[in-house]
Amino acid sequence: MRTRVTELLGIEHPIVQGGMQWVGTAEMASAVSNAGGLGIITGLTQPTPEDLAKEIERCRGMTDKPFAVNLTILPTIKPIPYEDYARAIVDSGIKIVETAGRNPEPFLPLFKDAGIKVIHKCTSIRHSLKAENIGCDMVSVDGFECAGHPGEDDVTNLILLPLAARRLKIPFLASGGFGDGKGLAAALAMGADGINMGTRFMVTKEAPIHEKVKQKMVDASELDTSLIYRTLSNTARVFKNSIAEQVINIESEPGQTKFEDIQQLVQGAKGRELFDTGDLDQGIWSAGMIVGLIDDIPTCQELISRIVSEAEEIINERLTKAVSG
Ligand code: NAD
Repeated sequence: MRTRVTELLGIEHPIVQGGMQWVGTAEMASAVSNAGGLGIITGLTQPTPEDLAKEIERCRGMTDKPFAVNLTILPTIKPIPYEDYARAIVDSGIKIVETAGRNPEPFLPLFKDAGIKVIHKCTSIRHSLKAENIGCDMVSVDGFECAGHPGEDDVTNLILLPLAARRLKIPFLASGGFGDGKGLAAALAMGADGINMGTRFMVTKEAPIHEKVKQKMVDASELDTSLIYRTLSNTARVFKNSIAEQVINIESEPGQTKFEDIQQLVQGAKGRELFDTGDLDQGIWSAGMIVGLIDDIPTCQELISRIVSEAEEIINERLTKAVSG
């Protein structure tokens, strides 16, 4: 498949691995890139900008294909030296960056001067247009189905993607709810130039998380995610476990929830322990509705090949037959 995404990013297949806290390590990113997609190292998974520079070097030792770095700018418990992370990305010679969360405008001069292509993740059309306006090269349009932060508008991809196709000039990825060839074919049909997947890549052999977490997502249905932080306007879709249920109970108590009321339950450090130990109620972890469509743990190579061939078959067989009388 050749699309504006494969051309602009220099990759074989129009499939990008989204930034994922604690999951986007060199192992994950290089596995996706080696399979012909675009792997992404998650900047804030590394404790310091110096560690990020080392992780980028480690990834270089594992793949000679393009890979990117994600920089997410959202509320955090500890203050983050974003400028220093951005500088580490530039100094490491990275050529593609995925930004997410707040408006990336303050970082664009630095990235653009270094010849970096910027993909901004957006959960609405107005943010996508803004990203195009300020000079981003591509957006990743993130529907309500997605894992992590879907924004506060609750618009699904069946509406968001055709709207993006109508209004944007720059290429865009479809993100949220993608994990198979049907999704890829549908995304292309709705005007996207490729897909972005997070949760689906968590359930691969190479994802650096405990087997029990992967198996839990294989066993899960489309009803097994929850929305937390709604009351804080920082909504996140996470796997529905006992901790997510406790958070929702606290948020449904009368009066305005304060972040401190739930901080102990949701802190990222506990989510990281959960990924290491496989204790599924140790913290929270981001997961999208796509868990309902995940039923195996393939390698990234097997997954990407399967998605591309399924999409090609749908386009060449089913859809071609539908219009050829
Ligand atoms: P963390 O331990 O600092 O915080 C845990 C969670 O609480 C995060 O979701 C964070 O957004 C939220 N949070 C922190 N302070 C808050 C406040 N004052 N009000 C409302 N919500 C607050 O975060 P972490 O797990 O180390 O993750 C680091 C960054 O990566 C965070 O910004 C997080 O949002 C982001 N992240 C993004 C995704 C995604 O879907 N793109 C997934 C996981 C984490």
